[in-house]
Amino acid sequence: MTQELPAKFDIAIIGGGIVGSAVAYFVQREMPGSSVCVIEPDPTYEFASALRASGGCRVQFTRPENIEMSLFSIDFIRKFEKDMVSNGRPAPVDWVEGGYLFIVPPENVANLERNVRIQLAMGCEVNLLDAQGLKDKFPSMNVSDLGAGAHTPHDGWCDPNGLLWGFRRKAVELGVTYVQDRVVGANVDRSRARSVSLESGQAIAADRFINVAGAWAGNVAEMFGMHLPISPLRRFEHYFTPGTPVEKLPYVKDVARLAFRSEGNGFSGGLVNGDEPRGFNFEVDHDYFENVVWPAVAHRFPAFEAAKCHRTWSGLYEVNELDGNPVIGAGPVGLENLYTVAGFSGHGMMHAPAAGRGIAELIAHGKYQSIDLSRLGYERIQNNAPYAEEGIL
Ligand SMILES: Cc1cc2nc3c(=O)[nH]c(=O)nc-3n(C[C@H](O)[C@H](O)[C@H](O)COP(=O)(O)OP(=O)(O)OC[C@H]3O[C@@H](n4cnc5c(N)ncnc54)[C@H](O)[C@@H]3O)c2cc1C
Repeated sequence: MTQELPAKFDIAIIGGGIVGSAVAYFVQREMPGSSVCVIEPDPTYEFASALRASGGCRVQFTRPENIEMSLFSIDFIRKFEKDMVSNGRPAPVDWVEGGYLFIVPPENVANLERNVRIQLAMGCEVNLLDAQGLKDKFPSMNVSDLGAGAHTPHDGWCDPNGLLWGFRRKAVELGVTYVQDRVVGANVDRSRARSVSLESGQAIAADRFINVAGAWAGNVAEMFGMHLPISPLRRFEHYFTPGTPVEKLPYVKDVARLAFRSEGNGFSGGLVNGDEPRGFNFEVDHDYFENVVWPAVAHRFPAFEAAKCHRTWSGLYEVNELDGNPVIGAGPVGLENLYTVAGFSGHGMMHAPAAGRGIAELIAHGKYQSIDLSRLGYERIQNNAPYAEEGIL
């Protein structure tokens, strides 16, 4: 049965994952009374990156926009359960303030120290530890080949499912319409995007469109005739337990992209292969843990020598091939009414609140009011001018 839709919406959001639902909430909050819809084909979110994410939230970045987005988003997530009560129902996200720990070999210490200085200057709490300091704090860790670590005690992780549905329910409460359908084409004339056609055969006209389709954002942009270098990269996440007990660990990350954290009685994490061929591939390689993750984790924490992997799942990073940072803002000349919020390259869950608020401000007021995200705009793609993190992924 097709949904009865108005002739035109003020704003049509394409993709209702974690970023799309955050955008919907903030847009409706910033512009009460406007008509906003979210076009999302799958209410179970089977392939959405959001529900496959590991939930990590950290301030350890080097670009001020990312640090500021993290500071706002972490605070927002910490208070989410109470602040996002919808129709009397709390919105639990199981926030755990477990901290993050970046560890580096001796040759990267100067780089880490510089990163820490940037984060401290922006008001983050960060403790720089030398190898002995790491050993004292995390006795199970092998520090023989490490130079230093940066520990951010107020970082942590949350439940992405709770976050997505908390935003979605609240958006609906405020008046947003979710349309269960898929965008398959776009009608663009010389000066603006006019409407999108849907798999069901219906069309949706709007004054403004926002492309928030995650790993599919490049394909959606193409429908509008816009080039957006965002591609899907498969990533595995594993739940595993050590052979002998290990103390509770923060979210540990190293320069080889090993990243894992405590989860219940075990640990959750993985090791990203940046050279993975791009594509919508969800196949699980059940040998990946044993061949790639286990050697790295057992080297760093010998207690994992007898680790057991209980579950492996795959999901997609939405990689911005230009610089690994999101594209947030209005489209190119001639498509100024098409906005993009995509390309977070693996940081989309943690930055969803700040990015949602940012785009809502840009649309409602014509400029950013809280965090200036202009440097993350589409212009840098057109100018081929990367704005990447430095020494951090
Ligand atoms: C294993 C793994 C671990 C991760 N860990 C973390 C982490 O610790 N912290 C963190 O911040 N991030 C993490 N991420 C990244 C995070 O999941 C993503 O950055 C985030 O989910 C992006 O949100 P999104 O809403 O843009 O995309 P999605 O959640 O994928 O949502 C996109 C939506 O668009 C819809 N869509 C697609 N095509 C169309 C179309 N044509 N029309 C309409 N709708 C469409 C899809 O159905 C989907 O629901 C991880 C990702 C993976 C895979």
